[in-house]
Amino acid sequence: MLILDGKIASAAIRESLKKEVEKLIAGKLRPPHLAAVLVGNDGASETYVASKVKNCAEIGFRSTLIRFDDSIAEEILLKKIEELNKDDLVDGILVQLPLPNHIHEQKVIEAIHPLKDVDGFHPVSVGKLVQGLPTFIPATPFGIMLMLDHFNIETKGKHAVVIGRSNIVGRPISILLSSNTRQGNCTVTICHSQTKNLKEICLQADILVAALGKPEFVKEDMVKDGAIVIDVGITHVEDATAKKGFRIKGDVSFNEVAPKTFAITPVPGGVGLMTICGLLKNTLQAYLNRQSLRTNREFNYTRI
Ligand code: NAD
Repeated sequence: MLILDGKIASAAIRESLKKEVEKLIAGKLRPPHLAAVLVGNDGASETYVASKVKNCAEIGFRSTLIRFDDSIAEEILLKKIEELNKDDLVDGILVQLPLPNHIHEQKVIEAIHPLKDVDGFHPVSVGKLVQGLPTFIPATPFGIMLMLDHFNIETKGKHAVVIGRSNIVGRPISILLSSNTRQGNCTVTICHSQTKNLKEICLQADILVAALGKPEFVKEDMVKDGAIVIDVGITHVEDATAKKGFRIKGDVSFNEVAPKTFAITPVPGGVGLMTICGLLKNTLQAYLNRQSLRTNREFNYTRI
């Protein structure tokens, strides 16, 4: 059984991104710049944004963190996004989700200029993804594809079952896995909360992607021998014996499932680390696209 170790794969990708930045600096160009907007002080969101900012610094990207109180009016947030859209020195904009209830999330997503949409949630980005056009791919599914690529996992002709149909994970990964690309060409079944016979469907999976947010939901009797299992779930489960008072659990019951798999991602240390790589790659791409627009050269999106 192969552990698809996010630490190894993400370190290799971050190293190659760092080299790209060094080349830019050597050529007297500025580094890519990510602007992250955080509303409120939700613990998990704080952690995610802090990690994104830290990773930017480590590879030489510039980043700016813009914080707002959770009582901020929607118009103020939209005005800030408009400012960032117009700022020539900002390449990528991300607004950490979820947002407080009084803010219309979709409105915020659509306010980000598609050229700076490094989270890949704008309908323009999603539409291009569906049509197989070069675009920003949402960071988590992008990270999964980078992981499959790093470990040279053959996907062509395999049956992939995706549990979860969210816009940020389930739906885009199902599109990517079915696309006519090196890390795609799967036959994909997408399952959700209304799916009947989930266990029987999962048992047919050569590749099983669990993205439902229910800790240790996928048990040994739901997984075929020799399957490749990608665990996207991240749930904080209270545990008085843990230092922080909680443990991070994936959607797969790792200890019982792992022995029968061909390959499996651990949680933590799997997809989460790759998600950051997806975001960093998108930010570099946004930078290159905007430079290309200036110099009228071709865009050069990452192909996976
Ligand atoms: P979501 O709540 O938006 O979507 C969950 C999906 O699971 C829904 O489509 C729902 O229909 C489906 N579902 C729920 N219960 C089900 C059941 N019993 N059977 C079958 N399908 C069921 O969640 P999300 O935003 O897609 O996130 C899913 C998980 O992935 C969460 O744990 C989240 O924290 C994690 N996540 C991790 C990363 C990462 O970087 N590793 C990134 C994003 C999300």
